[in-house]
Parts: sequence; structure tokens; C-alpha cells
Amino acid sequence: MQQMKTLTQEKWAKRPLIISGPCSAETEEQVLETATRLAKTGKVDVLRAGIWKPRTKPGLFEGIGTKGLPWLLQAKKITGLPVAVEVATAKHVEDALQFDVDILWLGARTTVNPFSVQEVADALKGVDIPVLIKNPINPDLELWSGGIERIQKAGIKQVGMIHRGFSNYGNTEFRNAPMWHLPIEMKRRFPEMLLICDPSHICGNRHSLHAVAQKSIDLDFDGVMIESHIDPDNAWSDAKQQITPEQLGAMIDSLIWRSENSDIEEFITALATLREQINHVDDELITLLSQRMKISEKIGEYKRANNITILQTNRWNDILEKAFKKGEKTGLSQEFITKYFDAVHLESINHQNKVMNS
Ligand code: PEP
Ligand code: MN
Repeated sequence: MQQMKTLTQEKWAKRPLIISGPCSAETEEQVLETATRLAKTGKVDVLRAGIWKPRTKPGLFEGIGTKGLPWLLQAKKITGLPVAVEVATAKHVEDALQFDVDILWLGARTTVNPFSVQEVADALKGVDIPVLIKNPINPDLELWSGGIERIQKAGIKQVGMIHRGFSNYGNTEFRNAPMWHLPIEMKRRFPEMLLICDPSHICGNRHSLHAVAQKSIDLDFDGVMIESHIDPDNAWSDAKQQITPEQLGAMIDSLIWRSENSDIEEFITALATLREQINHVDDELITLLSQRMKISEKIGEYKRANNITILQTNRWNDILEKAFKKGEKTGLSQEFITKYFDAVHLESINHQNKVMNS
């Protein structure tokens, strides 16, 4: 028991930390075979399996439930690896602890709900176990931070974050949009806290897993959690995004792990120079943008004098069209240009509005 606690601590501190296992525990054979084959790759630090599954619609597989916990205990005995499970209620916590689960995690649909997070936090009072907290399904950093604080307040010392992307409307490239700037902001807020990426739930498919995992590593994440299954196509949940244990091993092998810092003098100097250039460009951008707003205010004055509305949709469509064309030539994506002009547009409207009402 104590030995497992020490091993879990070691794994928690290891970089990169690799967590893998099926989306859901389905049968004893599936859990044990996945675990054995994952352990055989030598690339995995922690085994994961969903026991209780929050499904979007009723009628889908909602998890095997407590019955699956002894299978995980067995998988741990065979492989020597710590196991991690998602918990969403006090009863889940109680059951998981009874079966010696080593690491707990809060799912995206739990972090989104302070009632649930508090229930889990209350059940964890006085318990010494590491807890990972996934981002909420919506892009709300206060909810994510709030979840972390609730768990910390319960006395949990080892808290980590999992970035699994954010829910979006309609068909997009990703099942859950990564919005990388958000986990980066969380890293700024909690610099010492473990931050790992869950490419499986970001991608929702197999083919982009590698690229998303690599991107998270390039952004200095501390590890990954990737779903794996002995028969991915026939998985009872998230079939499209799971890979076999052997594919997982090969993928981990092919990722390039970079370090945040380097001592090489030349690298440090080159980086400092480039950063200086960036600072300069940023400075110029701010100056240009404020000049742009001043012009906007002048337009506002004319509009006030002539009593016309601020918004002229055609004008903005023209601006966007022009910018897209220029962006294409200079390597800026339409997504970036749209976002940039959305922000500029809003700021311009505010400036003009101030002038018109002054
Ligand atoms: C999971 O890890 O299987 C899961 C349900 O993830 P999420 O909470 O990120 O949707
Ligand atoms: Mn899943």
C-alpha cells in the first residue's frame, strides 16, 4: 500500500507524465489486456479507465460502475502501475477509495458545476490522494480555477490540470476546440501546478492525436492523457478517438520532448534578440492601434454631425475581404483575421459611441 503511494508520488513528479487506458472499463478481460499491453510498451506511467461515464444522451453506455473497480485493482497488481478514475459524486469517491484507486480526476462536465465539485471536495476532506481537474466544457477560466480552489480547500495537496478542449457549436476540425491560450493562462496563474493535455477529447478522432500531443509538448505541458483500447473500433464509448496500446507506445516514442530552458549560450542570445524584436513590434502595434482608434473617433464626430448610425455592415465586410486577401499573401489565417477584426471592430464602435454621445 505504502509502496504504491510512493510510486504514485514518483509518477506524479515524472516529466513527461503519460496516462493511458480505455475511455471506459467494459469487461474484465478488456481492462486486463489493455493494461498488460500498455505496460509492455514501457511508455505509460498511469493507467486510466472510466468507470462512471457522463454521456450526452440517455441510452448510451453509462459506464460499468463499481463492478469495474476490482478489475482495475487487478490491473494494478499485474502491471505495478497506479490507476486513475473519474469521479463526479461523493459515492464515486467513496467507492474509488475503497478499491485503492491511486489518482482521481474530475471530468469536464463536473468542473462546470460548482455543486458537484463541492460535493466531491467534501468527500475528499482528510483524504491524501492526487486529483486532476479537467477544464470545464465551456471556456471559463474562473470555473476551472474555482474547481481547483475547492479541491485545494478540502486539503488536497497534489492537484493537477488536464486540458481537454472546449465545447463548440457545429462541425469543426476538433471535437473540442483547444483554445491554447486558455491553458497557457492557467499555467501563468498556477505556475507550479502539473498541466497535462488530453488530445483524445480535443481531437475526437485518431488522425490528429499526434499533432495535438506534439503541440502541447511544444507549449511546455507536463504530459499527456491519451485513450487506448484493445479493439478501438468496437469500444463502447469514444470509439473514433481510441488507439491500440501498441499505437500509443509508437506515438509516445515519436513525440519530440523539448525542455523549457536551455543553457546553450548561443540559443539564449538568439532567443533574447528575437524576443526583443517581438517586444518592439508589439509596441508598434499598440501605437498603430491607438492611432486607428483616434481616426475612428474622428469618423464618429462626422457621423454625429450628420446624424447617421455607427454600424455600416457593408463597410466592415469590405474591410474583412481586403484583410483576408492580404492575409492570404502574408500567411495570416482567416480565423486570426476574423478574431482580430472582431476585437478591433468592437473597440472602434465603443470609441465612436463615446464621441457620438459626448
Ligand atoms: C474521459 O476522460 O473519458 C471523459 C469523459 O472526458 P471529459 O470529461 O474530458 O469529457
Ligand atoms: Mn472518453
